[in-house]
Amino acid sequence: MVVTRFAPSPNGMLHIGHAWSAIVAHDLAKERGGKFLLRIEDIDVRRSRPAVIDDFRRDLEWLGLEWNEVPTQSSRLDQYKRVKDLLVAQGFLYPCSCSRQHIIDSAIDHGPEGPIYPGICKGRHLEITSETSLRLDSEKAMCRVGSVFWQDEFAGQMLADLSQFGDVVIFRKQDEASYHLAVTHDDAQDCVTLVTRGQDLLPYTNIHRVLQSLLKLPVPRWYHHDLLIDKSGRKLSKSRSSEPISALRLMGADGRRFADELRSGNFPDGISLSKA
Ligand code: GLU
Repeated sequence: MVVTRFAPSPNGMLHIGHAWSAIVAHDLAKERGGKFLLRIEDIDVRRSRPAVIDDFRRDLEWLGLEWNEVPTQSSRLDQYKRVKDLLVAQGFLYPCSCSRQHIIDSAIDHGPEGPIYPGICKGRHLEITSETSLRLDSEKAMCRVGSVFWQDEFAGQMLADLSQFGDVVIFRKQDEASYHLAVTHDDAQDCVTLVTRGQDLLPYTNIHRVLQSLLKLPVPRWYHHDLLIDKSGRKLSKSRSSEPISALRLMGADGRRFADELRSGNFPDGISLSKA
């Protein structure tokens, strides 16, 4: 059975781009007789605003979507800690004490996550403390997993490649699981079979696929959908405060009709679908 999910972070209200993402994931599950999950990704405690979570649920209801809700990330911290211990014991993570500025100053290459870490702390055998982050030893990880592929229903078959990321942070200081670790763990834990999300996140799937192999997790398929963009071609984003859909809901607009308009490609003025 196909299991898709919508996994918003509660650091701002949902905008029409989120509505689109939720509808795509919901409809894929429904068309295939499967299940659609909602997971609140509140791993970033500093940016999370618990007050918006209920609004998320009201927005999805307003759009006429039905879902099963799985545990939030903040309720899974012990599980992430166990994964950390496992990866440390196997030698796939190493501690790093470099400041952001030091990395910016010493990096030679840049990738989708910013400067590629030049491996300063690798081989320094630092002690793991609450003040060190833990990075993936990408060379060792790739050696272990070999050539692994992943299947995107849009982009086709991809070869997992970490070269554009280098040794990414898997745990931040204070044991805080990174997005990459938490999402990979949770999708397996929630038995997601089709990871549905926007194309902006596609490159990161390389990291997730490698983590899956290291952790011997089941491998889902992916569906990185086209994004809604504004007049200047930029994707809609919470940080640029695209209008929240709750505004339409509170004005009394018909959410099911709004969802159907999006399904038939009738987007509000100034918004269109990117063709990547
Ligand atoms: N929590 C992420 C976000 O709100 C989405 C992560 C995902 O779908 O993998 O951008």
